[in-house]
Amino acid sequence: RASRASHDYPSITKLAVLFTVSGGGLLAFSDARPFRGAYADAIQSDQKKKKVVVLGTGWAGTSFLKNLKDPSYEVQVVSPRNYFAFTPLLPSVTCGTVEARSIVEPVRNIVKKKGLDVQFREAECLKIDAVNKKVYCRSNPDNNLGGEENFTVDYDYLVIAMGARSNTFNTPGVVENCHFLKEVEDAQKIRRSVIDCFEKATLPSISEEERKRILHFVVVGGGPTGVEFAAELHDFVTEDLAKLYPCAKDDVKITLLEAADHILNMFDKRITAFAEEKFQRDGIDLKTGSMVVKVTDSEISTKERATGENRSIPYGMVVWSTGIGTRPVVMDFMKQIGQGNRRALATDEWLRVEGCDNIYALGDCATINQRKVMEDIMAIFSKADKNQSGTLTVADFKDVIKDICERYPQVEIYLKRKQLKNFVDLLKNYQGNAQKEIIDIELFKAALSEVDAQMKNLPATAQVAAQQGAYLANCFNRMERCETYPEGPLRFRGSGRHRFHPFRYKHFGQFAPLGGEQTAAQLPGDWVSIGHSTQWLWYSVYASKLVSWRTRMLVISDWGRRFIFGRDSSRI
Ligand code: FAD
Repeated sequence: RASRASHDYPSITKLAVLFTVSGGGLLAFSDARPFRGAYADAIQSDQKKKKVVVLGTGWAGTSFLKNLKDPSYEVQVVSPRNYFAFTPLLPSVTCGTVEARSIVEPVRNIVKKKGLDVQFREAECLKIDAVNKKVYCRSNPDNNLGGEENFTVDYDYLVIAMGARSNTFNTPGVVENCHFLKEVEDAQKIRRSVIDCFEKATLPSISEEERKRILHFVVVGGGPTGVEFAAELHDFVTEDLAKLYPCAKDDVKITLLEAADHILNMFDKRITAFAEEKFQRDGIDLKTGSMVVKVTDSEISTKERATGENRSIPYGMVVWSTGIGTRPVVMDFMKQIGQGNRRALATDEWLRVEGCDNIYALGDCATINQRKVMEDIMAIFSKADKNQSGTLTVADFKDVIKDICERYPQVEIYLKRKQLKNFVDLLKNYQGNAQKEIIDIELFKAALSEVDAQMKNLPATAQVAAQQGAYLANCFNRMERCETYPEGPLRFRGSGRHRFHPFRYKHFGQFAPLGGEQTAAQLPGDWVSIGHSTQWLWYSVYASKLVSWRTRMLVISDWGRRFIFGRDSSRI
């Protein structure tokens, strides 16, 4: 575009000079610069500016907006939240370790970039019309302005980054009686509810049995969010509330229910074992193999997987954290485009929604089509088998697997989860002898089908969403240049399928805060670190990842305040 502009300018200048010489308007065109600017702007806004609509201001949407640099787009952002929330610190908000306002940044602050044309609408998308390239919206029903404004937005490119909602698996009573931990409002509600339970339990009219029920906090789901919340709550109770409510402290109980055999399943086994032992030492009642089948306003019913026994657990407060499901508006769109039987919008590796022109999906609402990935893996494999003998030497096989793991980190994540170093280990189950010199491709296919069946797609994390947002913005930044210079170096040569490199996820590791100033970290290269020093690593990584200097300063000062004065237990 820069080079095209420099070609345009001399001809525009010539026109201006001609006009001036012919007496057409000395005053107006004596300086060619404003004319050029106005002309170029007019062309840009009338003809060139492609309309990009971004749905959502979470990790994926915000990362896209932060990385978009090309001013040739007219961007409209639609989201019911006019802020970005740093979700990894939400569990800290539930107990007042960090204040809610410290972890949010107004979207308008993030998008006010010089030269970029970005408009924000606080509204929710109700429907996507892919045929007419329109998005139907309604102003945010939760704000004080009524939420009754309906409007449509046209797009040339649509970026769907609406995230996901909490998954209840249609368990009866969950929506009515449980807290979720997904949004900032959820964390604030939980904070108030915990204090409510303590205040209620210490009223003189409450019987001992009732007090025990009210002070029974149940967390459903042993994933990173559930575990971190249980650990935060335990710290809040032992470090702060026990001193303020001495008569209630002995009746407090925290229970963590997990349907699988262990908590933190996606982490290394060493971390799982450490977390389970720590919770046992802390007195957190960990019930694994326990599936919640119903929740009433005072009891949770569970079914034990091993024995089939049904149990009823009286509770005062439940936090439901069992994973994510599809938002209704995304599900509606998926049905429209024939993806109704999926759990998330299927995209190709360039994040383009399958079967749709100019629609991209990223973050928790999307998934890169696994079938396609598997076909690609097989193609890489067949290419390596140069003689088409149907076999590979172990050395060649290892090289191919290395290449595949680089291209598809989810394969590597799967192998690590299974504690396997590479596919040769996996093939042991199929050929019974890992020392074999030759690998049969058919055997490999069989092993691959196991991976295909069990391998989850990329994890639904902020890390994935942010990297996808940055990747897509870079594609948009180069889109026009790549169209102008098809042979240019930025093209993805070789496969001939697309002009950009496909999206590649880089896994930087993950943390699991376990309370008592201890954190577990699983870092790339199978490196596991657990303990107090890892907590300091957690503090520094999260402080550095915060979206602005303002939020960074606020969060650090909240941590300092908590160290000095403890957490605030006022119910406001
Ligand atoms: P989101 O961040 O959820 O954003 C979705 C956006 O869409 C929001 O702005 C929402 O308001 C908007 N939206 C919703 N409905 C509509 C609509 N109808 N129209 C328009 N906009 C809409 N990941 C990590 O990597 N590390 C962690 O430590 C970590 N901790 C977490 C802790 C908690 C408590 C939670 C809940 C999640 C955590 N995650 C973590 C996961 C991470 O937050 C998500 O994977 C990430 O937020 C996904 O980003 P996203 O942009 O797809 O969705």
